Amino acid sequence: MKGADYKLDIALSLRSRRVLHKIMEENPWFSNILRNSDTYQEAEEEISHYCMSLLKKSPEAIKYYNGEVSGRKAYKRLRWKDLGLIRMLDYITHSGLQLEDPNQGGKIITNQPIKLIWEAVHNKRGGARYAFFQDMMHLLRQISGKLENVRPTREKVEKWMDSYLCGLDGRIIKFHEINKKRILEILIEKMDKGEMSHPRFTFDESMNDEQKMERAMEWWEDHTFHLSFAIRDPELINEMLSYSLEEKQMVIMRDAQAKGIPFFVTPYYLSLLNVYAPDFAVGSDLAIRDYIFYSRELVEEFGNISAWEKEDIVEAGKPNAAGWILPTDENVHRRYPFVAILIPDNMGRACGGLCASCQRMYDFQRGSLNFQLDKLKPTERWSEKLVKIMDYFEQDSQLRDILITGGDALMASDKSLKKVLDAVYDMAVRKKEANKKRPDGKKYAELLRVRLGTRLPVYLPQRVNDGLIEVLREFKEKAKKIGIKQFVIQTHFESPLELTPASEKAVRKLLSAGWMVTNQLVFTVSASRRGHTS
Ligand code: SF4
Repeated sequence: MKGADYKLDIALSLRSRRVLHKIMEENPWFSNILRNSDTYQEAEEEISHYCMSLLKKSPEAIKYYNGEVSGRKAYKRLRWKDLGLIRMLDYITHSGLQLEDPNQGGKIITNQPIKLIWEAVHNKRGGARYAFFQDMMHLLRQISGKLENVRPTREKVEKWMDSYLCGLDGRIIKFHEINKKRILEILIEKMDKGEMSHPRFTFDESMNDEQKMERAMEWWEDHTFHLSFAIRDPELINEMLSYSLEEKQMVIMRDAQAKGIPFFVTPYYLSLLNVYAPDFAVGSDLAIRDYIFYSRELVEEFGNISAWEKEDIVEAGKPNAAGWILPTDENVHRRYPFVAILIPDNMGRACGGLCASCQRMYDFQRGSLNFQLDKLKPTERWSEKLVKIMDYFEQDSQLRDILITGGDALMASDKSLKKVLDAVYDMAVRKKEANKKRPDGKKYAELLRVRLGTRLPVYLPQRVNDGLIEVLREFKEKAKKIGIKQFVIQTHFESPLELTPASEKAVRKLLSAGWMVTNQLVFTVSASRRGHTS
């Protein structure tokens, strides 16, 4: 065992005791069992009897609990109360189960919720936190019927939604314009002083301030400008935001920098933050802020982050946790039979920003994804690897779906992306041809779906330019003739404030290439507020 269990000698906090008091008051049966049991095991037994006696009153639920029926339909027939009872019974069935918690450096955690509450009742200690008691209170309310599962009406959801501003709202567009101007003024000043520069973006000596601003406004429409002048330093982020960040936030950001967590914020994305928000817009950009500003927890964890999914730990030639042998260490991720993720060795190993909640933080930590844009140009070796990877897809009897991502698939140049898409097309053709020689029943799955994972319509909508659209359109036109059916851009909008005229234009352009655009969203705390994500 690498670590300790819950510390049973930790006293309860005052607010935990208040919730515990409520639990005992609201649930006399639960309170009696806990108070009258000499040991937590005795309490578990009694609670189990009580819950089973209630569950037995519902034949559907008892069948489900005993595993006699399963699946979505059977699950849907369960009452809200039954779900609560099953959860409580599961707590008891799995009491004593020990699990390694990678979030706590591999510490072994023993699952004993009834023991925690028994200790709290008898000894006013036990190591359980406030959130545990809150959760237990709601579970018991679910069981007693006090807490109902009421589906909000459409009107109610729309009302919640209306409380969040959209980046297409005229008032917000005005703010974003003000922010853009402020950011450009700072950039121009820094360029004039020689503190920032890029050979592609320079001013003629004869230009006055107005002309420089005009030129910078033109650059704003070019995605390479945003990549060249992306802000990589917390102090500069603060300066761009008129020094509006709280000192507490800055301390975390400086610590993050010292720990080696990269910063990379495009001027465009920074312009979505309200610096001086009027009353109607206060807090509306919280979901965006949560994406840029790292939390204390992340800073502390960085350096010890384990791969989120066991399957993401890949060694060439050895099966990963899901049993798949993969062609290279860092280019293919696979958990399921029908789909695999391709991470090309090109600029797609970067993103248009580092999302604080990124599931790939492990890859940023070990440097396989990064923001060293100059070093991410594809090498000769990538051409050889791509052949090997496409062979892998071709020789696999089940793969029919490829998700090209990174990082971010659209960070790759048009040329690099075309190279990958062409390789995918050639592989799909070869797979199809080879099938003609295979007898019925022995044919391999042919490629049906190609997806590109990208957050650039949000971080850098200027990237969706005519060149890119041409690459996408050309691929789709030829690929649909060989039976590929779905062409999907899977993007990642996190907040309605990220929907701006520029991102709307980018999405429309992607649709015009004949690709479908779908969205995935991370349920961060601020994105989970009622109505925010509806
Ligand atoms: S765009 Fe995707 S891969 Fe890149 S940092 Fe954000 S969540 Fe992670």
